[in-house]
Amino acid sequence: MHHPFKPFKIYSLAILYVVFLVGAFSILMASIDQSQRDWKRYTYEALEKTAYFNDAMVALGYGGFIHDFKNAVIRQDLSYLRRAETEIELGLDSLQKYQQRAPEHTAEVRAIQSVVSQYRHNLPKLRQMLEEKQSVADIDRVVRVDDTPAIEAIEAILSSHAQSPNSLFEQAGSAHQRVNHMLLVILCALVLVSILVFSFIRYVNKRLAIKLKDLEVIFRCAPNAIFSVNEHGTIISANRETMRLFGFSERALNKINVDDLVPSATKEKHKKLRLEFQKSDRVQPMSQRNTIFYGKKLNGDVFPASISIATYGVGDEKHSIVVIKDLSDEMQYKSQANTDPLTKVANRRAINRQLAAAISRSNRQQTPLAVCIFDIDHFKAVNDKHGHLVGDDVLQRVAKIFSDAIRKTDFVGRWGGEEFVIILEDTDKEGAKHFADKLRQEVKRRSQGIDFPVAITLSAGVSVYCQDDKQDCLFNHADQALYRAKESGRDCVVVI
Ligand code: GH3
Ligand code: MG
Ligand code: MG
Repeated sequence: MHHPFKPFKIYSLAILYVVFLVGAFSILMASIDQSQRDWKRYTYEALEKTAYFNDAMVALGYGGFIHDFKNAVIRQDLSYLRRAETEIELGLDSLQKYQQRAPEHTAEVRAIQSVVSQYRHNLPKLRQMLEEKQSVADIDRVVRVDDTPAIEAIEAILSSHAQSPNSLFEQAGSAHQRVNHMLLVILCALVLVSILVFSFIRYVNKRLAIKLKDLEVIFRCAPNAIFSVNEHGTIISANRETMRLFGFSERALNKINVDDLVPSATKEKHKKLRLEFQKSDRVQPMSQRNTIFYGKKLNGDVFPASISIATYGVGDEKHSIVVIKDLSDEMQYKSQANTDPLTKVANRRAINRQLAAAISRSNRQQTPLAVCIFDIDHFKAVNDKHGHLVGDDVLQRVAKIFSDAIRKTDFVGRWGGEEFVIILEDTDKEGAKHFADKLRQEVKRRSQGIDFPVAITLSAGVSVYCQDDKQDCLFNHADQALYRAKESGRDCVVVI
């Protein structure tokens, strides 16, 4: 049967789906993490940059270098000058650090550095003039520096710092948007993949449902008895034909043991066979087409059947499917086709078949074989005098005497009319003659008894089989012998 799906496909699909989910979520988490790190780094850099700039402004500005420088000039005080000398170095150092973190302000930083450098350049002159106690106006003329470029540069940097939080927020906003986009893409992919997976499951489900329905219909409509049993032999499910055949109802399911459905004499053997068979793991039908199996109905009736069993295991559970075909009718028709309805012995068809088999056995085993044809003498007269019913009665009684007299290996049949054939296997000419004569006497004696409607006699022709004779030949010889027996006065046996 065609399988539209296989377990491994479903497993790989599930694994793919999980891999997809894990992958999507790790990408999402990574991008959230990245944007957080970016934001942190950017904030840290911005804060650090601003801190260095502030340090530079504190060291150089009001309360710092410029303040002390001016005081040193105006108050002619060397202690202000010493502080200014330290502060200018600190300021330049911070400015240098700021420049490394703010390459966008290189031009402005250069302008400030250039102004501050002019001050530094003037410091030794200032010290000298102060020590020489020159006038404030003279000193101012020598050490004056134009601050304008530095002031403009500082203003430019400060105004860009004022805008810096906005750009920080913009940066964070775009990172957030990136995460949102990613989330949307992943969500769409998730929906798409889920739809695909759902459709596949629906398809598999439908195929499975159809398959189950098919099996159910086969199970229900099959003309044979089909049932399943567990490892203990208990019948788990059974179709209608099973219940009809064995004569139980649905309520009996899960209660009846399959070992109770065979004749009591074979019950133990059946159980042993069943247990042995259930050990095999493969689905392997155990047909018993050649040997006839007998089943037992719940009412005790025994019937012939052919049986097929397949055992399979799912996990640790073992099940067997049993299919049984009732052969009662078939056997009955078969026996009717080979039996003479009046006398119940074999008919001409069966005689021919039996003789062919006997000849091939004789050839094979080199054993003698004889055929006797018996004919009731003046049987027409019996019918004429006593009527056909009496004639029939006589035929039945003669057939019965024949059947009782023969051995198991011998075979009796009605050739037609009042003629009977007996096939004697492993019997030679003498034996056959002796047997035929004994039967002739037996029928004659019995027919003279009070229960027989009329006394009769028989004539018989006997022939023995010679190697490679034709079947017809054997019969013809027996027939010729019979003719001679009739000719020589009847109530006798002639052998050819
Ligand atoms: P012979 O001694 O030469 O054998 O004489 P016969 O009368 O037995 O031989 P014949 O062949 O002339 O007659 C056979 C008779 O058997 C004819 C027929 O009425 C009778 N017969 C054949 N079949 C049946 C049967 O089924 N039932 C009855 N009652 N009679 C039958
Ligand atoms: Mg005859
Ligand atoms: Mg006759």
